[in-house]
Amino acid sequence: MRACLLAGIGEFALQELPDPQIRHAREVLVRIRMVGVCGSDIHYFTSGRIGDAVIHYPFIIGHEAAGVVEAVGPGVSRLRPGQKIAIDPALSCGRCDQCLAGRENTCRHLLFRSAPGQLPGCMCEYVVLDERQCFPVSDALSFELAALSEPLAVGVYAVERSRIDAGAHAAVLGAGPIGLSILHLLAARSHGPLFVTDKVEARLDYARQLGPLWAGNPDRVEVEAEIGRLAPRQLDMVYECTGDPEALRQGIRLLKPGGRLVIVGIPDEEEVSLPIHELRRREIDILNIRRQAGATQKAVDLLESGALRMADMATHHFPLAEAAAAFKLTAARADGVIKAMITL
Ligand SMILES: [Zn+2]
Ligand SMILES: [Zn+2]
Repeated sequence: MRACLLAGIGEFALQELPDPQIRHAREVLVRIRMVGVCGSDIHYFTSGRIGDAVIHYPFIIGHEAAGVVEAVGPGVSRLRPGQKIAIDPALSCGRCDQCLAGRENTCRHLLFRSAPGQLPGCMCEYVVLDERQCFPVSDALSFELAALSEPLAVGVYAVERSRIDAGAHAAVLGAGPIGLSILHLLAARSHGPLFVTDKVEARLDYARQLGPLWAGNPDRVEVEAEIGRLAPRQLDMVYECTGDPEALRQGIRLLKPGGRLVIVGIPDEEEVSLPIHELRRREIDILNIRRQAGATQKAVDLLESGALRMADMATHHFPLAEAAAAFKLTAARADGVIKAMITL
């Protein structure tokens, strides 16, 4: 099969690799058709690591994938060859304390596609997955939307876990694919005033279509003053989706006493300093979101129902041989890119 391997920082190599084989009864061989470029992949592309997760080259990255079932093991009952699927890149053990508590996202034995030391990613023609990682979609759902179900699932999980009230004043800091997924979800339900920030004007323009009360660029406007004018009692919720430590601290300043900071973004730094006394005196809750648990089917259902119109988030398409261009574009946030898709 053709595979695109990360061969060094900022460098891909196209190679022929042996096709993967079904080895267990409940495994499924999948022909990959679409892979979305994720911010986490960009960390690996530009620095070869996320914190202590360090890439050993060469390595296949990419985890927001969709494809078609090519063959199934003898124990697979839910899937048949030819079926279009969305993919959950996480394989949990199903037996540890975390899995039994419904926290498969923090499974003690988690194997995630595209994570160094775990499993290779999906930027190749074929992968073998466990049946549980495959979510059938209708033929009418595009491969783009099927692949977007992965970041959307993170948004679904973040919104669920944050237990946001219908009338809450909420900000989404960062209008990349995850921030926009959260904004799509909040905009689609009954909601209070929404506020959005991003440093890329094209992303703010996209966000504005979803009807927030206010959207602004922190490089150009005084975010706290402007939001403060519209929400003098400050905000109930902040979803931090940039990974920028300054946005984390700004999120804390935007919150009212007893407000909730939901950390979704992935920082570059090993450690981030936060104003502990401000957090303590105003009793700010901090909630961390680790990928998602149990939200893939919900994301697929939302996309199938047409409740969320997210197809226009797939702004750019590149063939596998031009993966580096897709990653460079995404890293630079150039040309209005929201989600670049690799097609195979
Ligand atoms: Zn992702
Ligand atoms: Zn487990």
